[in-house]
Amino acid sequence: MNSSEDPFAILGVNHDASLTEIRQAYRRLAMHWHPDRNPSVVAETEFKRANAAYASLLDPQQLAAWRMAVGGESAGSPPKALRHDCTQILSLTLEEAAFGSQKNIELAHRVRCENCQGSGIIQHQNSVPCSACSGCGRVPRAGGRTGLCSGCGGRGYLRKSACPTCAASGWREDLRTLNVIVPSGVLEGERLRLAGQAPLPAGNETATAGDLYLEIKFLAHPLFVAEGKDLLCEVPVSIYRLLAGGAVEVPTLNSLARIDLPAYPQPSLEFRLPGLGLPGKHIDDSAGDLVVHFESVYPNRLVEHELELLNRLDHALLSDCQQRAPSLAAWQAQLPTHSSTSAD
Ligand SMILES: [Zn+2]
Ligand SMILES: [Zn+2]
Repeated sequence: MNSSEDPFAILGVNHDASLTEIRQAYRRLAMHWHPDRNPSVVAETEFKRANAAYASLLDPQQLAAWRMAVGGESAGSPPKALRHDCTQILSLTLEEAAFGSQKNIELAHRVRCENCQGSGIIQHQNSVPCSACSGCGRVPRAGGRTGLCSGCGGRGYLRKSACPTCAASGWREDLRTLNVIVPSGVLEGERLRLAGQAPLPAGNETATAGDLYLEIKFLAHPLFVAEGKDLLCEVPVSIYRLLAGGAVEVPTLNSLARIDLPAYPQPSLEFRLPGLGLPGKHIDDSAGDLVVHFESVYPNRLVEHELELLNRLDHALLSDCQQRAPSLAAWQAQLPTHSSTSAD
């Protein structure tokens, strides 16, 4: 038994069950799962699980601790069914989160196996050969010897065999499709609650369906990174545009916006467009901002007339160096006055 598993649930009794009821439930399970009687591949595990659950409830201190842990029910209070809530990740694109969407979610849940009515065992009209020993009653052991087959107790044939549909668990997995309406404006990490839609855990007769929580996770977006309600976007812009200023188009989630860059020098390469981030959930809930960061892009090669233009620009700057590039002017003033020796 996993130490966090509820022993009441394993034994299939209410939390206020009397010791007699607990003992009866344990005996039923132990009889059913005893590996000498039950050929199921899970028999031994289930048998041990029931033993461990029973042992923990026989200890008065553990019994009290479990009763506290499962809701503080005292003996005699009306039985309360166990609820199993469950959380699942729901991945959304930024657009789906921003504008709302409908998603189909495949949920694996456990249903009773119809083939064996949930018992894990098939009763046969006539005996069938034991699958563990192929009907001979003995199985190979270490050292080349053989031993009595534990699947059939050496009889070779069985009136019961493990249910193949559910691998003797009595439960089978079923896929259920849930259509979920995602409201607009959900943010990463938020949880949508679907009341009573949690899948039922296997083997737990007393459980009732709890709530299913869908935890929102954003899929990576090619243009934006969400930070709370703000959308961050890196926008490449040519070094010429960055120097000259002018209109630059930037993407929003569903269209384009325009930023008028001032001519160089800009106070900052970061621009904030209020309200163009992720929307709020309702009218009073304001939308986030679109935060654009411009990144300068240099051409990887220059053509002839660009070189001419750049040379003219450089001459113009040098002629007005004192005013517009004082550090360059200061540098030139320190140079010796004789003419350069390097070839042009
Ligand atoms: Zn079955
Ligand atoms: Zn056998």
